[in-house]
Amino acid sequence: MSLSFVVSKSDPTGARRGRLTTPHGTVETPFFMPVGTQASVKALTQEALEDLGAEIILANTYHLYLRPGHETVRKLGGLHQFMSWPHAILTDSGGFQVFSLSELRKITDEGVCFRSHLDGAEHLLTPEKAAEIQLALGSDIAMVLDECIETPAPRDRAEAALKRTSEWAKRARNYFHECAQRNGDLQQWQFGIVQGATFTDLRRESARQLLELDFPGYAVGGLAVGEPHEITCEMTAEVAALLPRDRLRYLMGVGRPEQIADYVALGIDMMDCVLPTRAARHACLYTSEGRVLIKNARYAQDQRPIDPKCTCSVCRRYSRAYLRHLFAAGEITSAILATHHNVHFYLDIMRQIREAIEFGNLANFSSEMHARYAEGPA
Ligand SMILES: [Zn+2]
Repeated sequence: MSLSFVVSKSDPTGARRGRLTTPHGTVETPFFMPVGTQASVKALTQEALEDLGAEIILANTYHLYLRPGHETVRKLGGLHQFMSWPHAILTDSGGFQVFSLSELRKITDEGVCFRSHLDGAEHLLTPEKAAEIQLALGSDIAMVLDECIETPAPRDRAEAALKRTSEWAKRARNYFHECAQRNGDLQQWQFGIVQGATFTDLRRESARQLLELDFPGYAVGGLAVGEPHEITCEMTAEVAALLPRDRLRYLMGVGRPEQIADYVALGIDMMDCVLPTRAARHACLYTSEGRVLIKNARYAQDQRPIDPKCTCSVCRRYSRAYLRHLFAAGEITSAILATHHNVHFYLDIMRQIREAIEFGNLANFSSEMHARYAEGPA
């Protein structure tokens, strides 16, 4: 089965409802991808992810390239088989981690030279190499290598990164097409990444240049890195307006629970963020009434579930008092239960958003979420 994407319905806000079909199952859009950095969503087993109804996860190319190595994964049958996840997987290009984690790094037109954060060994990541690694991993969706820059970035820096990102995208696309010519259908989609920092004209220019390469999907990168939410939305809207209706739109690295519907309303189909899993390990729980900081003393004798409205297996069984105790005692079960709930909460938001689009009332859902999160924790 090859890949396809169909938009089935639009909301007055501009939100889209659709379905992505992959060789590893279908994914209802818009969707949120839990982040499985090391081929593992921290604190969750693949069984748990299936119980939660996750249809797609994200895995990090940078980490899997360094350990256990993409050739090892290829020999073991690819990432799906290696991690026993028969559902869809998106891999990033590795660029973001190279720029943020590794001891850098020399960026040239050829690629980016960096030292591994694990053992200091030197590596060269090129657009072709990033594509090659992701083909070896066998993900359903692969991202092209882009140049990530600091924020806020001066205009000349943003312009240079845009130019390089476009050149790298062209090389990645050529490499991908050459592989397809040699090997037939690669059973993978390759997405381009729009850059341009916080300059609307650069965002438009970046989108225009990538559109020439005819990607099946386009990501908006380099946002949600510290700029105000309004700017993230403004840049996203600028790009989304230029993208073809029949291609997937991916806003990378977002977002907070109350912001998700805002991005969907701008026409975004897919998102990913470490927030639900990372916050869970730091005892921050997301609920229908706002955030619950479970370590707070006020929960010590609270027999209610984390979220009385939540239907997840953790809320059906355990109390706030018990979860608070687990965190206080440093039990690893605290991370497991908290992560389970938070990922359920995010996937449930997406279910509600998809339903709201079907009924044409996403705007109501969005304002309710903002109101609840403005009021603070229950
Ligand atoms: Zn729950």
